[in-house]
Amino acid sequence: MNNHTCIECGHAFTWKNIFKNIWTAYKPMKCQKCSKTYKVTNGSQALVTLLVIVPMLVFGELLSMLSLLPKLSIMIFVGFFISLFVPFLLKYKQEPVNKN
Ligand SMILES: [Zn+2]
Repeated sequence: MNNHTCIECGHAFTWKNIFKNIWTAYKPMKCQKCSKTYKVTNGSQALVTLLVIVPMLVFGELLSMLSLLPKLSIMIFVGFFISLFVPFLLKYKQEPVNKN
């Protein structure tokens, strides 16, 4: 069992699920099989910021001679490219269940 497996039913989250989750600002991820929700841990959010956002800003700084549009395109490309690898590093925890 790895970090990306539902602890309730053993359903594995795919890379695609997690990748999409990063770009939806970490909305809780639902297990497609048993509907348990998982949220990325605070540590993992910090990791994404460090690995994705910081390099984007650094590139933005390095490319400050460019005009806004090409600069933004490169920054987004850098962030996108790095985030392809980030799903392997993230940790998720189960959300507390609301019993109504
Ligand atoms: Zn499940």
